[in-house]
Amino acid sequence: MSELATVTGKYQELRLTGVCRALSDLLTQAENNQMSYLQFAEHLVDLELRYRQQQRQDSNRRKADFPVLKQLEEFDFAHQTTITKRQVNQLLDFSFIDQRHNLIFIGPPGVGKTHLAIALGGKAIEHGYKVLFITALALVEALELSEMKGTLKKHINSLTKFDLLIIDELGYFPMTRQGMYHLFQLINGLYEYRSLILTTNKDFTQWGEFFKNDNVAVPIIDRLVHHAHIFILGGESYRLKNKRER
Ligand code: ADP
Ligand code: MG
Repeated sequence: MSELATVTGKYQELRLTGVCRALSDLLTQAENNQMSYLQFAEHLVDLELRYRQQQRQDSNRRKADFPVLKQLEEFDFAHQTTITKRQVNQLLDFSFIDQRHNLIFIGPPGVGKTHLAIALGGKAIEHGYKVLFITALALVEALELSEMKGTLKKHINSLTKFDLLIIDELGYFPMTRQGMYHLFQLINGLYEYRSLILTTNKDFTQWGEFFKNDNVAVPIIDRLVHHAHIFILGGESYRLKNKRER
């Protein structure tokens, strides 16, 4: 076995995979640039740190369960003029997550609500946050299932592990009383503790109707809206625009 392979093997034993993979390149670089010992030592540890950060990010991206990949860079602010690039860029310091504030995107279908939610979620992951994307329907069904299995509390607890929960398409389907009650318990658990991004086609004046004027509705809305940045999107559906141009 070569000397390099032996040393690499020792790094592997310590699970320093980042160093392991790049050791040979790093040695060449160090020789070519006549690195000091300290510089070399720092390079080694930086390599491992970067590698681990990347691994963590990749894992968080898988766990986020985004239905599709959407980037902020692909978002056409010339088409969607009811929100500005500046407004969106201001969210990218993620102080809204640190302060446990919510974002609510309200608007008709096709105006970019889900696109923005996924794109912001992706950027949050790049900044080290844990994110979960789920549709309101899937969420309520999953909570209901947990309730039947007697594991609702545990389920809600597992959702509070994420820094940011994206609930897509609230209000698209009627919700049962039971569903609403589970949703309330979740929102209560997240309140001032974690952040939400919510997309919905219903503005608040219609929420009472969606929640069937139930007395659960008021506290849900209250908790969602308190500390929320609300964006009301309008304009023409991007889907229709694309159809017309073809
Ligand atoms: P909504 O969630 O508001 O119904 P989506 O975000 O799903 O709408 O948008 C519908 C489709 O159009 C998606 O493929 C999305 O990427 C695209 N889209 C919407 N708005 C824009 C935009 N302003 N620029 C680029 N793509 C857009
Ligand atoms: Mg959508």
